[in-house]
Amino acid sequence: MQPFSYVRPETPEAAVQAFAAVRSGARYIAGGTTLYDLMKLGIERPAHLIDVTAIDGLDTIDSSDRELRFGALTSMSTVADDPVLRHDYPVLHEALSRAASQQLRNMATIAGNLLQRTRCMYFRNGASSTSSVGAYPCNKREPGSGCAAISGHDHGQAVLGQSKACTAVSPGDWPVALTAMDASVELLGAAGRRTIPVSRLYRLPGTKPHLEFTIRPDELITCITVPKTRAGRASTYHKIRERESYAFALASAAVALDLDGDRVQQAHIALGGVATRPWRATEAEQALIGKRLTPALARAAGRLALKGARPGNANAYKIDLAIHTVADALIIALGRAA
Ligand SMILES: Cc1cc2nc3c(=O)[nH]c(=O)nc-3n(C[C@H](O)[C@H](O)[C@H](O)COP(=O)(O)OP(=O)(O)OC[C@H]3O[C@@H](n4cnc5c(N)ncnc54)[C@H](O)[C@@H]3O)c2cc1C
Repeated sequence: MQPFSYVRPETPEAAVQAFAAVRSGARYIAGGTTLYDLMKLGIERPAHLIDVTAIDGLDTIDSSDRELRFGALTSMSTVADDPVLRHDYPVLHEALSRAASQQLRNMATIAGNLLQRTRCMYFRNGASSTSSVGAYPCNKREPGSGCAAISGHDHGQAVLGQSKACTAVSPGDWPVALTAMDASVELLGAAGRRTIPVSRLYRLPGTKPHLEFTIRPDELITCITVPKTRAGRASTYHKIRERESYAFALASAAVALDLDGDRVQQAHIALGGVATRPWRATEAEQALIGKRLTPALARAAGRLALKGARPGNANAYKIDLAIHTVADALIIALGRAA
């Protein structure tokens, strides 16, 4: 591991100033459950770490008439265990409580979760502690080196949003739930404050898969907001994985429904585990409006959500799996609306 400097500022403004003071090679660190991991693997080699965990006031959950507000440093377990959320927004509770393990959720923050990097095995394996050029080419780890997954073992790779340069899946569960629920992130950087939708935080890989996020490196996430909606109660995060705990999604669906009588007034659907970024399924949402949700309509919405999916060598199973995941999630959400 290469040497790095370490500071622990006590305000968001001081953190941004610390970033500006070193100009390049700096990274914020929160729970460290991803970044330290990647540093040990030689994939991330920051020269300066700015630990944000001593900043006061960014670890609270608040609520107004219009929105839920989650401080960026709130732990995944604190949010997952919130009793109001569990009842009124099961999609948010389930996305966090079905992610990682209890120990990791105690350490990890909800902002760090948004910015975790892919678990693609060709990205994570192959670098050494002194060089990021490893045994396997990876355009995300080493731009221009190629993508070993495309002709390699692609069982876990994306079927939506992939490019000739990268097929790596966006790994997080929480970002999928937030995308479905129209959440936003509040940012503070050298250029000031701004707010962007979570759906605009992630880039498609295109020809530059090493550029994963749209925020500037010096921008600190200070808060995550979720607009309040009646659809929150009739919601679920349905996650399919290789074992029932402590595993990333093979396919997942975040779904929320607002019903008028037995007709769908509003539907929220986003997919995880199958795409290169959290994937909002707007066409599938539209197809439900004004209709009575039946198992057949739920399957049709699942097929629309996977429209345009392109399988590789060994991951075509994900298309069927995701169609059923969306359909099952819709029926679970419908049951909660009743
Ligand atoms: C074995 C294992 C299994 C896992 N399983 C799952 C799973 O099933 N589902 C899932 O969703 N996740 C899973 N994870 C990922 C885990 O949830 C993340 O590691 C965690 O959420 C990251 O949060 P952190 O606070 O530790 O982030 P850090 O490691 O501290 O930081 C991660 C990134 O976010 C940046 N960052 C952190 N905070 C801020 C901020 N406030 N503003 C700007 N940038 C910031 C850092 O610079 C870094 O790039 C797993 C992790 C492990 C190790």
